[in-house]
Amino acid sequence: MTNQFHYGLDIGGTKIEIAIFNSKFECLGCLRAPTPTNNYVDFINSISDLVNQADDYCDSQGSVGAGIACTLNSEGLAQSANIDCLNGRQLINDLTEKLNRPIAIDNDSNLFTLSEANGGAADKADVVFGVIVGTGLGGALSIGQKIVPSAQGLSGEFGHTCISANLHAKYQLPLHQCGCGLVGCYESYLAGSGLSRLYQHFGAEQADTISFAQALKTKHPVAQATFDCYIDIAGAAFASLVLHYDPQVIVLGGGLSNIPEIAASLPEAMAKHLFNQVTLPKVITAKFGDSSGVRGAAIIGAQHAAKIT
Ligand SMILES: [Zn+2]
Repeated sequence: MTNQFHYGLDIGGTKIEIAIFNSKFECLGCLRAPTPTNNYVDFINSISDLVNQADDYCDSQGSVGAGIACTLNSEGLAQSANIDCLNGRQLINDLTEKLNRPIAIDNDSNLFTLSEANGGAADKADVVFGVIVGTGLGGALSIGQKIVPSAQGLSGEFGHTCISANLHAKYQLPLHQCGCGLVGCYESYLAGSGLSRLYQHFGAEQADTISFAQALKTKHPVAQATFDCYIDIAGAAFASLVLHYDPQVIVLGGGLSNIPEIAASLPEAMAKHLFNQVTLPKVITAKFGDSSGVRGAAIIGAQHAAKIT
């Protein structure tokens, strides 16, 4: 029997949120609790309490999916930078046992893309690539409203491929050390901090992304020069997505998707890095924004439950 209700959990370093969705993935309400970061038993119990409260509210047992700030290694052991008690734990097994139902866990990019491909901005498109551009730059591929699985969950991490020598020379760009250990990653130019650094590179003194967005609206020459460079680099990065994944639609989310000039200018910028015969994908901004995490978690939980029951 399929579940009538689906719960999406967003488990971060400070709080755990559970959102309850109906079968159309419309949100019915949400609950929050602080995250116990130092005691694993308290952590599991806290999630169980929230799920039990959701069950009571629905008078039914909902499916469960979660976005968690951790990675799972090939043996299923969790590693987390900001929830210490998860390290080395069999998180999925322990939650499955405690909640007495299957649970699916996935990363932000996958959950965002899944949400936008199912009733979101890219609803009904078969091949969708979702991109989150904010504190980082990452993405995921959905085909037929499902995330394409990959061996290590690395598919879509295009933010950690490097800019071309051509772009580097054209704009006399500095080479930045990326948090991943590589040098010159797209992320170090296109994420929020990268955009600020580019703005400084072109001569801005107050170089945060908000003052950049305001200056761009007034067509300030430094902001315009920064944007022309930014969109050229983004065009190259997104052109590589077209050649690798050939999506019908690219959905943009994350903080920088709030700068409307980016989505509007990307198709033309991508075309400059692609051969003539290529039909460009549509580039659109997300429908669900910040709530894509819990909504995508609810969808992946529902898909997982339907697969194994
Ligand atoms: Zn990197």
